[in-house]
Amino acid sequence: MAQEYDLVILGGGTGGYVAAIRASKLGLKTAIVEKRELGGTCLHRGCIPSKALLRSAEVFKQTKEADQYGISTESPTLNFTKVQERKQSIVDTLHKGVQGLMKKGKIDVYEGFGRILGPSIFSPTAGTISVEMNNGEENEMLIPKNVLVATGSSPKSLPGLEIDGELVMSSDEALHMEELPDSIVIVGGGVIGIEWASMLADFGVKVTVLEYLPHILPTEDEDISREMLKQMKKKGVEVVTGAQVLPDTLQKDSSVQMKAEVDGETMTFKADRMLVSVGRAANIKNIGLENTDMQVENGVIQTNEYYQTKESHIYAIGDVIGGMQLAHVASHEGIIAVEHMADKKPHPMNHNQVPACIYSNPEVSSVGLTEKAAKEKGLEVKVGKFPFQAVGKALVHGETDGFVKIVADKKTDDLLGVHMIGPHVTDMISEAALAQVLDATPWEIAETIHPHPTLAEAIGEAAMAVDGNQIHG
Ligand SMILES: Cc1cc2nc3c(=O)[nH]c(=O)nc-3n(C[C@H](O)[C@H](O)[C@H](O)COP(=O)(O)OP(=O)(O)OC[C@H]3O[C@@H](n4cnc5c(N)ncnc54)[C@H](O)[C@@H]3O)c2cc1C
Repeated sequence: MAQEYDLVILGGGTGGYVAAIRASKLGLKTAIVEKRELGGTCLHRGCIPSKALLRSAEVFKQTKEADQYGISTESPTLNFTKVQERKQSIVDTLHKGVQGLMKKGKIDVYEGFGRILGPSIFSPTAGTISVEMNNGEENEMLIPKNVLVATGSSPKSLPGLEIDGELVMSSDEALHMEELPDSIVIVGGGVIGIEWASMLADFGVKVTVLEYLPHILPTEDEDISREMLKQMKKKGVEVVTGAQVLPDTLQKDSSVQMKAEVDGETMTFKADRMLVSVGRAANIKNIGLENTDMQVENGVIQTNEYYQTKESHIYAIGDVIGGMQLAHVASHEGIIAVEHMADKKPHPMNHNQVPACIYSNPEVSSVGLTEKAAKEKGLEVKVGKFPFQAVGKALVHGETDGFVKIVADKKTDDLLGVHMIGPHVTDMISEAALAQVLDATPWEIAETIHPHPTLAEAIGEAAMAVDGNQIHG
């Protein structure tokens, strides 16, 4: 017999499960349909496992450099099996946590593939959902008042560079490598490519990054991407920008070889393995969009600012709608969508207030406009920059590379953007995000007393530097 719900969510990733918890707290009878594991990409194939591996790489690097802190160690060796076990145990712990949260919220979880059958006389608003159950039992039919599509995304590849899971990997397979290769070519110098380049180089792998655009991390402020290039080179990573991969030239035996056109010249790249990190495609196949009036443009589902699709009772959030494909964006969108369904009148999200982080070594974080984007908007800008080299705590940590850069409006003094590269900056960006939400000026950030010695002093100093008033630089 069909089950009735106030809300059925397709996909139990970060967006879907957070939305389910909010819905349950608002008193909505809620179900999630998940074809793999609750927690989705972020927990099983993204944020968490990649950061666990990055942390091991960081500890390995620091142990090798322990001598500079006055600690002598025998030459440290890497046990990659243990590194992978540690990663998996973190993922398993968090996975259990999410399962527990579903039970606590009395959220029904259907393990299977969900498909929208479209509005009918039985389900006039959002349409029936059919669930093809993983256990092979008869399909479940769910009748919701509202549907939330949160089916996420999957790795893209390039024609001719098909993922075989062994020699040519996406980040999904790379996370499960049983042993490290001696060398790797990474196609794509965006966020995922640079996190992997940093991690593998710190583990001692010879890394080459091929990026089609003139800069790695092309969405970041150009000063940040230049500094990251410097830092990658310092680690021994070969970075080739303006590289147009020629996929037809891919040859595989026990290693991979491929050609790319760089500045009009054809260059050959050879390595034990290849990682393709060229973006992610929305999971919209076979979910029944054709049974609805929902619209897809450029491969992603279209919504309004409350994440309603053209079918007003069907919402969509997270990676499947494109934009900033980040876990905290997916979950925030999920909360807004659910509150909108429950008539709670939520505030639409302002993308200028969304922080973005890269967990390479050094880390990167940003919020708001880059200097270039601000200028392209016709704004006259003033910039304050402060290096970690001049921050006591950075010296104490032995991590002095990088800086904080603040972009402000010259006419109004408004804060436009904050960009950081350096130690622990992913833990420091929330101050800047709060400043954006509160519409603070750099002067107000500078007036905020930053305790000494902390890395966050670099933010206060950069804010003072906007008007040339920095103290230590
Ligand atoms: C290597 C990597 C590192 C990343 N690191 C970070 C990071 O550090 N910080 C950050 O903010 N973001 C990071 N991301 C991005 C982040 O993982 C995504 O933005 C986030 O997972 C999106 O959440 P979502 O709920 O939209 O989709 P997903 O997490 O992809 O969840 C979608 C879920 O829907 C399920 N599903 C799909 N179709 C169906 C169907 N028809 N029926 C039932 N279930 C279905 C899938 O199995 C999946 O579990 C990273 C991504 C990758 C790949």
